[in-house]
Amino acid sequence: MLAEIAILVTTVYLHRGLAHRALRVHPVAEFPFRVMIWLMTGMKPREWTAVHRLHHAATDTDQDPHSPLVLGFWRVQLANAALYRRTARDGVTVDRYAKDLQPDWFDRWFFDRAWLGLGTGVVILCLALGWQTGLLAAVVHMTTYLGLSGAINAVGHTYGKQPHDNSATNGRLLALVTAGEGLHNNHHSVPTAARFSRGHAEFDPGWWLARSLAAVHLATIRHETLPVRTR
Ligand SMILES: [Zn+2]
Ligand SMILES: [Zn+2]
Repeated sequence: MLAEIAILVTTVYLHRGLAHRALRVHPVAEFPFRVMIWLMTGMKPREWTAVHRLHHAATDTDQDPHSPLVLGFWRVQLANAALYRRTARDGVTVDRYAKDLQPDWFDRWFFDRAWLGLGTGVVILCLALGWQTGLLAAVVHMTTYLGLSGAINAVGHTYGKQPHDNSATNGRLLALVTAGEGLHNNHHSVPTAARFSRGHAEFDPGWWLARSLAAVHLATIRHETLPVRTR
């Protein structure tokens, strides 16, 4: 449950919002998203965004930070977070691909301190559930979150359908458990689209949240109509 919320915030705010500017999130909604990413993932949005933009710029080439076609399926599935960290700290990628995300006061004091965020998240779980259940919930949450994130990059470039002309794949089952991220072939076909689903049978909760935020003026969607290119 917690991992699903973290995946939903990751896909809507970090991925569709910051990395691709497919939607612009209003500051009123953005702040809680930043807090949730900090507490539930420990990731720095600037680093995640830069690594992901490099993935799109160099998809499934030697420069791709996490291509299963280059690095092997299991390395991406199991060591996804380590691959992100390696690229984020190479001294080049963040400067080149995340110029638009300069750190502000909250980043310097809180959100750039990953262990402070994760530690605070664990303390909150322990206070809410008792320390044993809280620690267990934290371990289950991080394992699930890391497993699903790895699957988006590993499965999403290996198994599934390819209606559009790119090396990513669509997996409906993966989409079901990753708030729509499993529709990865659709996403690579139009990265600036906030909507990953195309047909009614494609499950895309990230798009539902984006559309709901837009309906109450907490977000602006970049493309009103979806430019679709099929093979
Ligand atoms: Zn991809
Ligand atoms: Zn993307």
